[in-house]
Amino acid sequence: NQARMESLSIATYQQGEDERYLRELMIIRDLPIALSQAQLHLVFQPKVDIQTNHCHGAETLIRWLHPELGFIPPDEFIRLAENSGNISIISEWVLNTTIKQLAKWQQQGISLTVAINLSAHDLTNPQLPLDIEQLLISNNLPITALSIEVTEGAVMKDAQTVIAVLQQFRNIGISIAIDDFGTGHSSLAYLKLLPVNEVKIDRSFIKDIHTDATDLMIVDTSIRLIKGLNLSVVAEGVESAEGIDILRKLNCDIIQGYVYSKPLKADDFIVWFQQFNQSNVPF
Ligand code: C2E
Ligand code: MG
Ligand code: MG
Ligand code: MG
Repeated sequence: NQARMESLSIATYQQGEDERYLRELMIIRDLPIALSQAQLHLVFQPKVDIQTNHCHGAETLIRWLHPELGFIPPDEFIRLAENSGNISIISEWVLNTTIKQLAKWQQQGISLTVAINLSAHDLTNPQLPLDIEQLLISNNLPITALSIEVTEGAVMKDAQTVIAVLQQFRNIGISIAIDDFGTGHSSLAYLKLLPVNEVKIDRSFIKDIHTDATDLMIVDTSIRLIKGLNLSVVAEGVESAEGIDILRKLNCDIIQGYVYSKPLKADDFIVWFQQFNQSNVPF
């Protein structure tokens, strides 16, 4: 019986593995199609300055609604795009779509800063900073309209090359944020080395900050460290008003999280943005 149970669970496991493998193949196969068939879109999540209660902009996050698989989380398909050599076409799409949106907003008299997420592979392209600069200039956008977010992991893949590319972004005047801070391997050494402007503390340390004393201690210390280096600090994934209060007391600069807003489609985001900045309600 024991043996039968085991072979059953192995069979179930194998079936699960096969399904996962097929799903991944499908995702990799369909990525280029998704681009050409408008299955992708961007959503925007506000970044709020909690010392002034002002929203200066947002982060773009990609969404893919697959005709058969439904909503595919970006964590899943971005990783597969990276492994299958498809990430640059996605990043290019994100960049172009963001710039188009920024240009549209600018024509409506709305100026803001939008951050895009870049992958490790993008940061090995020494031409990218100048391409982005050109794109901003040709759309009559200020250099501050766009900023970039990169993870520590992305930097460590090929540190020398990546640091040179980041330096180029910095020279042009494009702001750089380290994303998911605290989840990489050598946070402190890299903070010293990298030409960054902003550090985003990972959601895993933030989500229970109002109940977990250890997380509170980690976040407090991280904020002191980051601010001590004269960098701006963002807390990701704040879900409660209590979280805002705590982070404000800890001197955190910027918050992103469901407590303010989930990522929104462009038109909904602008409605939120204008309402938020017009109301004087201190959250
Ligand atoms: P990230 O850049 O660290 O983005 C933050 C993630 O946390 C987003 O998930 C966002 O929706 C989620 N989030 C924000 N506030 C809250 C909150 O209060 N509660 C909870 N539970 N979640 C919150 P999303 O959109 O699923 O993206 C996941 C990751 O996928 C991103 O992490 C980023 O690494 C990657 N990604 C998304 N869009 C792009 C893209 O256009 N290009 C690249 N290269 N990566 C992207
Ligand atoms: Mg990000
Ligand atoms: Mg993050
Ligand atoms: Mg993340």
